[in-house]
Amino acid sequence: MEPVANGIAVVAVRTPTLPPATHTNTYVVGHDALTVVDPASPYPEEQERLAESLTRMNLPVERILLTHHHHDHVSGVTALQEAFPGLKVWAHERTRQRLEGAIHVDVLLADNDVIDCGGVSLRAVFTPGHAPGHLVYVDASTGAAIAGDMVAGIGTILIDETDGDLSLYLNSLERLKSLGLSVLLPSHGPALHQPEAILSFYIAHRHQRTEQVRQALAEHGTSTAAELVPHVYTELDPRAFPIAAVQLGSHLRWLHDHGLVQRDGPRFWLQC
Ligand SMILES: [Zn+2]
Repeated sequence: MEPVANGIAVVAVRTPTLPPATHTNTYVVGHDALTVVDPASPYPEEQERLAESLTRMNLPVERILLTHHHHDHVSGVTALQEAFPGLKVWAHERTRQRLEGAIHVDVLLADNDVIDCGGVSLRAVFTPGHAPGHLVYVDASTGAAIAGDMVAGIGTILIDETDGDLSLYLNSLERLKSLGLSVLLPSHGPALHQPEAILSFYIAHRHQRTEQVRQALAEHGTSTAAELVPHVYTELDPRAFPIAAVQLGSHLRWLHDHGLVQRDGPRFWLQC
C-alpha cells in the first residue's frame, strides 16, 4: 500500500488486463474508515494480498466503489466481500446493469453524488465513453481524481465500439479538463501530475487519429476497420492488429455519427 494523495493509497494488483499493462490500481481511500475503489484481481494470491493490506490498516472497511464494469476492475469484489462480510458495492446504474447476474450493486451513484469516505469527500463525476457507466471520483479539497480508465499511465485507453463511444469519451475528457484537477490517479500505471496537459493531449490525439482514418478512407476507398489498420497504425506489431481494428472502429463510428462517412454493415466509405 503506497500513499498517492491526501487520504488515498494504492495497491497495484496483477490482472489479465490489456498489454502492455499487467496490473490494475486498486485505490484505498479514507483517514478513519476505508473505501476500496475497484478491487480488480481475479487471482486468489492478489486478493489475499489486498485483504491483508487492508487488515493491517486496522480501520473499518466501509464500502466498495466501482469506476466501471470491466473485468479487470471488478474481479476481486466477491473475494473482498468474503474477507469483509457486509461490504456493499456502489456504482452507476449502467454499471449495475452490465454486472447483473455476476456482481450485485447495492447502492446507485449518479453524477455529482458526494460520498464521505472516512473523512475524504469524493464526488462521483459521470464520465461515459470508455464504458457506459464510468465514474471518476474527485476529492474537491485536493483536486485528486481517481480516474479509472479515462486516462492511463501505461498503455492506451481502448474505446470499443460495442461498449464505448468516442464522442461521449471526448466530452468526458473535456469535462475532466474543466475541473481544475491536481492529479489523475489512473487504473493502470503511475499517477499523472499535469492533468490539463494530459487531458488536452488525449483529446488532440483522438482527433488526430480520426483525421488519419478519414484520410485513409479517402486514399483506399470503401474499407472495413480491419483493412484500414495497417494504413493508420503504420508502426504497429501485426499481433496487435485485431485490437487496433476495434479502436479504429470507434473512429469510424465517430465519422459516421458526424455525417462524414457512410456505412453498410462493416464497410465504410467517405460521404461525397
Ligand atoms: Zn475499462
